[in-house]
Amino acid sequence: MQEELIADCVHCGFCLPTCPTYDLWREEMDSPRGRILLMAGLNDGSIELNDTVVEHFDRCLGCMACVSSCPSGVRYDKLIESTRAYVEENHQRGALARLLRSAVFAVVPHRRRLRVALALRRLPAPGALGRLRTLAPPWSSPEWPPEHLPGEGKRVALLAGCVQSVVFGDVNAATARVLAADGYDVHVPRRQGCCGALHAHAGRLEEGIARARELERELSGYDHIVTNASGCGSHLKDHGIANAVDVSELLGEPQAERKPLELSVAFQDSCHIRHAQRLIAPPRAMLDAIPELDRREPAAQEICCGSAGIYNLVQSEAAQELGDRKAQAILDTGAEAFASANPGCLVQVSAALRRAGRPLPAFHPIELLDASIRGVPKEHLLEEARR
Ligand code: SF4
Ligand code: SF4
Repeated sequence: MQEELIADCVHCGFCLPTCPTYDLWREEMDSPRGRILLMAGLNDGSIELNDTVVEHFDRCLGCMACVSSCPSGVRYDKLIESTRAYVEENHQRGALARLLRSAVFAVVPHRRRLRVALALRRLPAPGALGRLRTLAPPWSSPEWPPEHLPGEGKRVALLAGCVQSVVFGDVNAATARVLAADGYDVHVPRRQGCCGALHAHAGRLEEGIARARELERELSGYDHIVTNASGCGSHLKDHGIANAVDVSELLGEPQAERKPLELSVAFQDSCHIRHAQRLIAPPRAMLDAIPELDRREPAAQEICCGSAGIYNLVQSEAAQELGDRKAQAILDTGAEAFASANPGCLVQVSAALRRAGRPLPAFHPIELLDASIRGVPKEHLLEEARR
């Protein structure tokens, strides 16, 4: 592991109030500072890698709120990513945890298998598989945008994603339409795989990086690789794919007219847009460009909703508590709908809102912009919305 990065931590504790797991359990070893101490102990051999230590690392959401709040610039993102890879290589998990993780990676990054799994979600399933089934979203959209939407501007390739293209194909279609309306030459190559973000987040770092490199080859020759799933975008940027951008970064100079959409929307930051990519203004600007849209800010934006890659599958109790808190913060805004720029957050918060008995229409911000450009009536938009 990386000694120099560990040594940057001066143990000041400024990160503790923004750490969701410290907030949940008030346990030092479930804080960024405590986890860095565990990493230091593993490094110098004073701590052995056992189930208890691994549990403290596993409970970390990888939300990077601690990176945003650290005055010393500690790269906790790099530290936890390499620690997770070290754990995967050097620690044998229990049989149930192994089965659950294997099932997730055998299905989620593979479009065809994920489609089949979602189709089977109403059937009874035993144990860990049953848990996966209950967490599946009640909607899916296999829509693919056209392969090419010609424009005079920069040539861009849209990353369709794995989960995104199966569960949120309509978000991809909206993204392609908005980029084309704003003058981009939009390509959505059929041959493109998973970016590897889920793998890297869960400790399968080598595979995560290899998948990012493969994707870079598949989508080479464009001015930008455009992502609309913030977890994918931050993974590509972190691993040196220099032309990867979030769609919100390309819409600063609108060409298409934005028509009024009189709707109140709670905008929820995803951790990978706020903390990892540090994109606070661009997604808000996208919504604020829509006349008559009333954007509202839920409380505690810096705190994760509990989705966090596969966290809500492997740490379901903590994820549920965080999801319920986020849903309440969104409901407290009184907004008619909510929006988030990450598929995991949309699935997680929608599930929490359904649990609370108050499901709200859930949008990616690009869908609202697309509706505004196309002049879709509010009633029609809400009627068709996922919840
Ligand atoms: S990670 Fe940063 S904020 Fe947290 S204890 Fe270390 S130096 Fe302080
Ligand atoms: S990444 Fe998130 S959960 Fe993990 S230590 Fe940092 S703030 Fe806490």
